Parts: sequence; C-alpha cells; structure tokens
Amino acid sequence: MQILVAEPEYFSAVLPRLMGLGEVVHYNIDKSIGTAEILVIRSRTKIDKSLLDKATNLKVIATATTGLDHIDVEECGKRGIKILDAAGANAEAVAEFTAGLMISLARKMHYAHTSASKGEWKREDFVQNGLGGKALGLIGFGRIGRLVCKIAKAFGMNVLAYDPYVEEKLISDNGAMPLSLEQLLGRGDFVSVHCNLGEDTRNLIDERRIRMMKPSAFLINTSRGGIIDEYALLKALKEKRIAGAALDVFEEEPLRNQELIKYARENANLVITPHIAGLTKEAVDNAAEIICKKLEDELGIK
Ligand code: NAD
Repeated sequence: MQILVAEPEYFSAVLPRLMGLGEVVHYNIDKSIGTAEILVIRSRTKIDKSLLDKATNLKVIATATTGLDHIDVEECGKRGIKILDAAGANAEAVAEFTAGLMISLARKMHYAHTSASKGEWKREDFVQNGLGGKALGLIGFGRIGRLVCKIAKAFGMNVLAYDPYVEEKLISDNGAMPLSLEQLLGRGDFVSVHCNLGEDTRNLIDERRIRMMKPSAFLINTSRGGIIDEYALLKALKEKRIAGAALDVFEEEPLRNQELIKYARENANLVITPHIAGLTKEAVDNAAEIICKKLEDELGIK
C-alpha cells in the first residue's frame, strides 16, 4: 500500500506510524499520484478533477484540516474516494489567534512595533480603545466561534452571534446574544467570521453588508477567503466606512491581491497574515495524530 504524504513537514510526529501502515513516499505529488492508494495532505494541496484523473489507484484522502474547500468532494464521491478530516484539531489555535488580531487592531500593536523599532517614541499616537465593554459579533457559532466567545467574555466583551444552523438556546447558554446577521452587523464593534465556505456563504460579507457596519467597527476573518468580498472591503477601508480589518485567509492563496498587500503595507488599520491562525505546533501535531488514528481505524489496525 503506497501512502503519499504531500506536505511531509506537517506530519513528522506521526511519520513512523504512517510507515507502519504502508510504503510512505513524499515526492512531488504529480510524480506519485498515479500509484498512491492513500494521500495525506493539508490545505496547500488542491484536489481537483484534473489531479483525480491521474489518481487511478487512490482510495483515501486524509486531510489534516477542518475545511474541505481545497478538495472537490463531489468528484471524490463519484470515484468512491473516501475523505478523512481532522475537524476541530486547531480550533483553540484559531480562537487564540482571532483574539490576538482583535487586540492588534484595537491597540495597533503591530504598528507600534514598527514605529518603536524605527527608533520613534510616539506614545500619543497609540491612545486607542480597549476591548472591555465592546460588542463582538460572531458570524458562525461552531467550534471556533464558541471558543472565541469564551475568550471575549473573559475580556469583558458583550458577545452577539449569528448562526442559522445553531439553536438560539445554545448561543444564549454560551453567554452570547442570538441576532440576525443584519442586527449583528449594525451593532458589532468587532465582527469576526467563523462560518464554513460554501455556496451560501461565498461573498456573505459583501459591499451591502459592509455598509451595515458601524464606521468605528473592525472586521476579522480567520475562516476562509471568499466569505468576505476583498474588493468591497478594500473600498470600505479607503472610504473610511469601517475602522479596520484583519485577514488571515484570502480568496486566492498565496495572496496575490496586490492592492490589498499595498494597502496593508501603507496603513495600520489592515492586518494581513498568511493563513496561520491554526498553525500552532500543538495543533499541527494534534491534526496529524487525528489523521493517523483515522487511517489506522480505516485499515483495521488497533
Ligand atoms: P464548525 O463547522 O464547527 O462551525 C462553523 C459554523 O458555521 C457552524 O456552526 C455552521 O452552522 C455555521 N454556518 C454555516 N453557514 C453559516 C451561515 N450562512 N451564516 C452563519 N453561520 C453559518 O467549523 P469550525 O471548526 O468552527 O471552523 C470555522 C471556520 O474556520 C471554517 O471555515 C474553517 O475552515 C476555518 N478554519 C480556519 C483555520 C485557519 O488557519 N485560518 C483553521 C481551522 C479552521
């Protein structure tokens, strides 16, 4: 049984165990996809129809991620290729990072660092608003949304949540206020996106909905690119219709939107990071462990 580990740097903790399951190869994916029966990946490897056409022996794709938007799931289904995921493995890491982005946006920490490391001492430029008492609107109240809620409550924030697939009672039991999307956008001092990317959430936060936000509000996305319309966001930032934004995920990754990069370079109110919210050492190893265990179960190995 050939196991192709396409992003081996993330699976070092379980490599010996994977080797016990079969012949592990980690060459260029194009070179080995024809012979591999199991493909082990994270989100960098895009599984589309053209790759699947070459994967004539493939039986299982094991992806150490929560989202499956890098995989053509429907096409895998047609070909009887099973998908194993590691949903939730990095939820804590993403929630912590989201909290970090909120603080960075509110207090301009990143900008203060740049300024101080140039030898400046402009304390008067950094008198900013804090988080306590502010309203945080969460779009999506799943694993990560709920963890962000818990952290935000510890900061003394009032948490609002919109999730059409979660019972309102679960939202209120977690200490948040269930609201419609429109109400949440109108009231949030911070709005943070934590839903999955699907046909119903693509461009969910478009120009019309950004216009519903307060001019003093910050928008954060650590979920998936494509849920926020990047061009509408950039326009809103330039027209000062919202106070700032932080993005860890983008429509196209690696990020190529030059306008967005340029704006972030020249302005303190847009923080961009290269899809790292879920990348703590603990979360990477946890995801690899989950994938390895699922593969062992799949192959009937105790
Ligand atoms: P989850 O499935 O536990 O929660 C997602 C929630 O979104 C669900 O409760 C669902 O009901 C809700 N939802 C679906 N459609 C919605 C809509 N139209 N409006 C509002 N809510 C809607 O997923 P999770 O583990 O909490 O992950 C959340 C997101 O974070 C996913 O998109 C995932 O891919 C992403 N993620 C990003 C990173 C990163 O490194 N940046 C890492 C892990 C996960």
